[in-house]
This record gives sequence, structure tokens and C-alpha cells, in this order.
Amino acid sequence: MIKAQGLKKTYGKGEGMVTALCGVDLTVNDGEMVAIIGKSGSGKSTLLNLLGGLDTPTEGKIFYDDTEIGKMNDSQLSDFRLNNVGFVFQFFDLIPELTAEENILLPAKLTKKKADNAGELYETLGITDRVRHYPAELSGGQQQRAAIARALINSPDVLLCDEPTGNLDNKTGEEVMALLKRLNGQGMTVIIVTHDREIAQQCSRIVEISDGKVVQ
Ligand code: ADP
Ligand code: MG
Repeated sequence: MIKAQGLKKTYGKGEGMVTALCGVDLTVNDGEMVAIIGKSGSGKSTLLNLLGGLDTPTEGKIFYDDTEIGKMNDSQLSDFRLNNVGFVFQFFDLIPELTAEENILLPAKLTKKKADNAGELYETLGITDRVRHYPAELSGGQQQRAAIARALINSPDVLLCDEPTGNLDNKTGEEVMALLKRLNGQGMTVIIVTHDREIAQQCSRIVEISDGKVVQ
């Protein structure tokens, strides 16, 4: 279970201060597939980054079961992220100098884990014959599949996806959504940030945010 309590986030200070979140409470249960929907600038990415421990809230707390991630120091938090949270981003964010496979195996290398699920992941994701290529040699859909494999290599409990289909054509986006739904069907908790209602409607629950607040 992931629980956010009273999350506030401001960027900058003084005149230039921007309030991105102003008091968000949210609980996501294990095995849920939740969409966070809202207009551009509503605070979706900020919320996802806080939930994943990529950034720290100005106020409020985040719990993974009984563990409050705000109590961790930087190295505990990065270990926690590496082992428990998978991230998928709109622009894939693969390292261009590494092959798809080197990208995918990187989180395992960092935790010194054996990536003995790699071959199976490539098969599931349909990228077995592409992983020796560099990202620039792959289609957008293949890059996103590689990014999903990278997110899954350490067998996380939760997958956090920020506009995972935002840079893909409709058909490829649907394939990526089908894949995320399949993973959720196998028990993975999935949180998807999107501004696209059709994507959101494929999730089991929709949380709408507007101006940094949950409105529905
Ligand atoms: P969304 O993902 O819904 O488009 P964001 O969470 O990216 O929204 O942004 C929410 C608000 O916070 C916006 O007004 C945005 O300009 C601002 N913001 C986001 N990141 C930063 C940052 N690193 N520095 C300053 N302002 C930011
Ligand atoms: Mg965003």
C-alpha cells in the first residue's frame, strides 16, 4: 500500500514561488491500477515523483506500508527506489550510449542483483531480437518496451508511469497499455499519470487533480 498524507510541494521561493501541490491525500492499494489525470501543469508529474521518492515534499508524508520514505536518508532512499519502484517516462529516458540490454540491466547492476528474469522479460515485452541495439536504432514503441523492462528488472512492487503513451502513436500506445494491464493482472501495482481520458478509463480507478488538489 502507498499512502500520501497532506502532500504539499512548492518550487522556488519569494516572488517566483510556484505551488505545484497544495494538500494531496491519496491511498493506492496493492494490485490496483490507478490513473492520475489532469490538465498540463496540474501537478501530476510532481505527485508521481513524490510518490516514487524522486523528489521530496515541502510538507506531508508518504508511506509504503509502514515505512515512511521521508525518514530515509539519500542513500537509503535510492536503495529503496532501486529495489521497490519502477519508473516509466514519456520520453523513455534510455541512455543513448548504452544498448537496450545494457540500459535494462543497469538497475540490477546497481543493486548487484542477478538479473535472471531478463530473458523472460524480453520475451514478455517482445524485444528479444532488439535488445542488442542502441536506443536510436529502435522505434518509439520498442524504446518504451525496453524502458518498461528496465523498470521491471529488479522486480519492483509498484510501477510509476508518467505519460507512458504520450510520445507514441495510438496503436503503439494501446499496445503499451495492454502490456501495463497484463502486468497489473499479474499483481503489479500500477500508477499512470496521463492527460488522456481514454487511457485513464482503462484503469481500475481514476484520480483527478486540478491546481495541485485532488478534485475527484
Ligand atoms: P503536470 O505533470 O500535471 O503537467 P507538473 O507537476 O509538471 O504538472 O507541474 C505542476 C506545476 O509546477 C506547474 O506550474 C509547473 O510549471 C511547476 N513545476 C514543475 N516542476 C517544476 C520545477 N522543477 N521548478 C519550478 N516549477 C516547476
Ligand atoms: Mg507532467
